[in-house]
Amino acid sequence: MKYTILTLFPDMIKQGLNTSIMGKAQEKKLIQIEAVNIRDYAYNKHKQVDDYPYGGGAGMVMQPEPIYEAYKSVIEDGNKTPRVIYLTPQGKPFNQTMAREFSKEEELIFLCGHYEGVDERVIDRIVTDEVSIGDYILTGGELAVMVMIDAISRLIPDVLSNETSAEIETFDDNLLEYPQYTRPAVFMDDRVPDVLLSGHHKNIDVWRRQQSLIRTYHKRPDLLETANLTEADRKFLDK
Ligand code: SAM
Repeated sequence: MKYTILTLFPDMIKQGLNTSIMGKAQEKKLIQIEAVNIRDYAYNKHKQVDDYPYGGGAGMVMQPEPIYEAYKSVIEDGNKTPRVIYLTPQGKPFNQTMAREFSKEEELIFLCGHYEGVDERVIDRIVTDEVSIGDYILTGGELAVMVMIDAISRLIPDVLSNETSAEIETFDDNLLEYPQYTRPAVFMDDRVPDVLLSGHHKNIDVWRRQQSLIRTYHKRPDLLETANLTEADRKFLDK
């Protein structure tokens, strides 16, 4: 997967994604991250990329030309153009289903806004998807793009060392994941549930499924409305 990020702060992206699993995924060439500085495409000698909003009001707006030129610089003529995602609080809320869908692409371009946002005309011309990472306002799209790249990349084969760890987890089937335990078996008089020490895989699976249902019921009952529930799940929840 190749990610290209159009941003005013390329160092933020590089530093933020250089360590841990994302760093290793880049070393192994499973993902490639290129941050393109929009300021390099500024039209004027002061390298200014923003200006006052037409109609008045507070703040500055990112000008369309440098963004369009930065975009053109990364598009290869003749090839199918990749999806261009604009990070904006006005976009579709990002979720696991979207992460899975994006993880199947070969290449993605992200546009990070700053200040009051981006001139609408460049959004109209280049953006295919508008995505928000939540109902709050960030100062820029850089943190949002890092969140998306992390969530998308861990779904790409071989990015996680133990691939099964991305197989059953929170939001699969629209349920929250069951509780997890590791050594020691007793921590401050609190013992790991016996079933997990039993070695009986069928019973462990049943227990985990039931714990997922209980957790979702208590913490995120809204998810149950669209969850993939079996007959046995429904019977359990009715109890
Ligand atoms: N004036 C804009 C509005 O009300 O919609 C908000 C601009 S915000 C201060 C600056 C930039 O941060 C946006 O252009 C966007 O790229 C990014 N941003 C802010 N909040 C975000 C969110 N919740 N999700 C994704 N990107 C966000």
